Amino acid sequence: MTAIARTPLEAWIGARIGLARGERLSAGRLAAWQLAQLNATLAHVWQHSAFYQERLGGRALPRLARLEEIATLQFTSATDLRQDAMRLLCISQSEVARVVTLGTSGTTGDPKRLFFSGADLEATIDFFHHGMSTLVRTGERVLILLPGDRPDSVGDLLRRGLARLGAEGIVHGPVIDPAVTLRAIRGHAVHCLVGIPVQVLALARHPEGAVLGPGTLRSVLLSTDYVPRSIVTAIETAWGCQVFQHYGMTEMGFGGGVECAARQGYHLREADLLLEVIDPISGRPASHGRNGEVVVTTLARRAMPLIRYRTGDRAAWIDEPCPCGTMLRRLAWVQGRHQEARRLADGVRLEMHTLDEALFALAGVIDYQAVLTCGKDGEHLRVRLYAYQDDQRLRSRAAAALALVPAIRAATANERFQVDPIDVELRSSSILPAAKRMIGDRRTNASPLRK
Ligand SMILES: [Zn+2]
Repeated sequence: MTAIARTPLEAWIGARIGLARGERLSAGRLAAWQLAQLNATLAHVWQHSAFYQERLGGRALPRLARLEEIATLQFTSATDLRQDAMRLLCISQSEVARVVTLGTSGTTGDPKRLFFSGADLEATIDFFHHGMSTLVRTGERVLILLPGDRPDSVGDLLRRGLARLGAEGIVHGPVIDPAVTLRAIRGHAVHCLVGIPVQVLALARHPEGAVLGPGTLRSVLLSTDYVPRSIVTAIETAWGCQVFQHYGMTEMGFGGGVECAARQGYHLREADLLLEVIDPISGRPASHGRNGEVVVTTLARRAMPLIRYRTGDRAAWIDEPCPCGTMLRRLAWVQGRHQEARRLADGVRLEMHTLDEALFALAGVIDYQAVLTCGKDGEHLRVRLYAYQDDQRLRSRAAAALALVPAIRAATANERFQVDPIDVELRSSSILPAAKRMIGDRRTNASPLRK
């Protein structure tokens, strides 16, 4: 058995914090550097951001003696980003290289705006360069199924990072028609795909995607949305390739962390970002190994640094050392977002990722919608599956899989909850670019069952 290659992020972070060649990164050196960067960031925002001046108290420059003291600082929320973007900005507008506006998800009001300087974007390209070396070799071609039309968009930054690796990134954009994308995969003879989980699944399960067969693609990187295990398994089974996960968001500067060859959790951009996992109710650090909410502080951002930004993502630290042998921390796979769980009438939490694992595991499913409704007889879960081919058995297999989801089993037992007969809708070619998926809720606000 060959040894698992150590994550390239360790050597990269070592170089970033100024270690001599051949010197090994240690937890102590990294923590000391992170503390210095954190204090420099606090000084930067204290001087230049009206928002943080107010938050941190305007009289004296805040200075932490230990990294753990970060817990004494207030959180920054998504609402703050929506309402106070200009007061979070730390540089003049003429120095801003890119503004990203993140659309609203329907009910949440104003869009979020994020500002980046040229140096901020350069740090992201640098991360993509080193992070991608885990799964892409010099001379390989990568089809990028992420937005990349504009200069400095995520697809463009990834293409530039790959170029530094001697690999060719071809920006294709999100999948609109799987048949067209599959032709591009064959036409460019690509070795690697980078895309949104549900979209890549729709390629792998497409009749033309299935014939790609093992050996055509060497690796796939799933990004943008959290990644259900069932989707990883389905893609690996269809194409016989290795599937890696990237964790990031625009607020992190697009990139946050990426799996190493062990593929058992993410290693993070620890020179640029400090992550915490907190109990979302108490705000205190989550117990080790327990799921909590990911909170991120930027350590080198110039335009719009974020202090303890609550991401809403659910994940846990992994205590055991990574099989790749690095000293870097490991974050377990993100399991969706806190807000997207729905509380059923009897208090049971129904989580999107449990539906994902049950439904994407079924051969033929390329996407689905789940909606909660409320009738006289109690709550209903309505599920519509999307597939390329109709198959009567799919309905019964989906019903059986849902019945095994613990929250559904518990809720069904009280007879005030039922899963409606499964609906299947055929998708011939065109699929919509995947927005963040969530369980729809059409129970009325007045309903006492809502809470
Ligand atoms: Zn590792």
